[in-house]
Amino acid sequence: MKKKIKGIARDTLKFVLEVSASSHPKEFAGMLYETDGIITDVDVPITQSSNVSAVMNLFMLPVNTHIVGSVHSHPSGALQPSDADIHLFMQSGDYHIIVGYPYDITSWTCYDRIGDRRELDVLDVEIDESAVYRDIQETFGGEND
Ligand SMILES: [Zn+2]
Repeated sequence: MKKKIKGIARDTLKFVLEVSASSHPKEFAGMLYETDGIITDVDVPITQSSNVSAVMNLFMLPVNTHIVGSVHSHPSGALQPSDADIHLFMQSGDYHIIVGYPYDITSWTCYDRIGDRRELDVLDVEIDESAVYRDIQETFGGEND
């Protein structure tokens, strides 16, 4: 089932840029979630040693219907997806954001699942701050139970 996505919450985009900057020169990767058609959440499964393949493998876990795509950073500053990126994009979701150095508010591009650039509006919406960063264990079931 495809969802119509209206855009990404500005606070969520800022969070992604901040985390990418703090991860630099390492790559940051996470998954994007929507609430009522707006991308409001980022999951960061592996915080320090993130790599895109590891994150994308989580798409193979039981489907979370609120996943709309992925986000990852390019410390090089290039915003074009690599062939490997596009291969991973095709696995799930229609909204894949690449952010690049210097991680300012314009240092990002959104792509669809085949790697074509697509528009994504940045929306000023009120979101629950605590919901921006969700622990992977909350989403996929705790391992400590
Ligand atoms: Zn990439």
